[in-house]
Amino acid sequence: MDGHGPWEAEGALQLAGQRLALLDSARVYACGITPYDVTHLGHATTFVWVDMLGRALRLLGIEPDICRNVTDVDDVLDDAAARAGTDAEWFAAVGQFQFDTEMNQLNLRSPQHEPRAHRYIPHVVRLARHLLHSGSAYAREGSVYFKGGQVPARAGIDHDRALELAAEYGGRPDDPAKDHPLDVAVWQACGPDRVGWQSPWGRGRPGWHAECVAMSASVFGPAVDVHGGGADLAFPHHAYHAVMAEALTGVAPYARAWFHVGTVTVEGEKMAKSAGNLVLVSDLLAEHPAAAIRMMILDRPWHTCWDYSPELLDTAGARLEELYRAAGRSSGSAAAQQRVRQALAADLDVPTALDIAVDSGGDAARTLVTVLGLT
Ligand code: ZN
Repeated sequence: MDGHGPWEAEGALQLAGQRLALLDSARVYACGITPYDVTHLGHATTFVWVDMLGRALRLLGIEPDICRNVTDVDDVLDDAAARAGTDAEWFAAVGQFQFDTEMNQLNLRSPQHEPRAHRYIPHVVRLARHLLHSGSAYAREGSVYFKGGQVPARAGIDHDRALELAAEYGGRPDDPAKDHPLDVAVWQACGPDRVGWQSPWGRGRPGWHAECVAMSASVFGPAVDVHGGGADLAFPHHAYHAVMAEALTGVAPYARAWFHVGTVTVEGEKMAKSAGNLVLVSDLLAEHPAAAIRMMILDRPWHTCWDYSPELLDTAGARLEELYRAAGRSSGSAAAQQRVRQALAADLDVPTALDIAVDSGGDAARTLVTVLGLT
């Protein structure tokens, strides 16, 4: 068989220019939400793309095994629950329910695994003990810190920028108990005013990166095929996750490929509650079909950042109609269907796949309607 035969796209997916050779299934870990607030278009974009990755894998003959965790132990969650005058567990359950409802409306398939951080406390304690044993961490004043000084260099980030990002994402670089400002808590001592658990080091709670390491290692073992999440998680969260997981297991690289989905901005600004520019999924769903929202998210390269405007939904709606009309035609060739598969195998190139499907119609278009989750 030459390189252009009908089997060329089977089991091979290019992600960010890297060929991921797969035989049977693919382990995909996606960093999920901290259920303390409403779901906005930025969240939806990440998880619609993870869903799309799973659907594309299935088209290529590979069974996706997706784990999307829930970070339901977190300082910001505690703070939000306290402000609302309710306990964190109840608050997280309500947030999770709303998130699930909206993701269902957006036609996401349920992930195969959905671990919740609060069920992995003993695993984080074990993780801390292993890291202490191997000398990758040290215990100090009731906390266990992972030695993170080398992480920014590995992630290609300079020291000053790493400090800024560490502070922004709750890494407490100014914590005087640490040997190095870029060390991170695997286990963080805390008082009775915070949700906490007993441990060999006293009362405390898991660190954010450590929670995800504990969940990914428990579900998938030492490594994953793809680790995904929003691009803003690349540092510190994913960089620390990889280094900590490798220190735990000795298996490197932890992730064969990274799937950092582009950030969505509004008038050039990152969406944030403080900026008052959140585009809520519930508001979009009230006025537009889910398929149009999916089309807006997916008809672009997955890794680029983009700026939301309401006109994009009109464009997506028009594109959707074109595709549906093409899918209604009986014409279409096996070759076109194969070209759709090849476009999706080449870094999930949806715009090219759409052009082929709309042009050819028939089976190629019907295949694409299914793979994009537009049914
Ligand atoms: Zn994570």
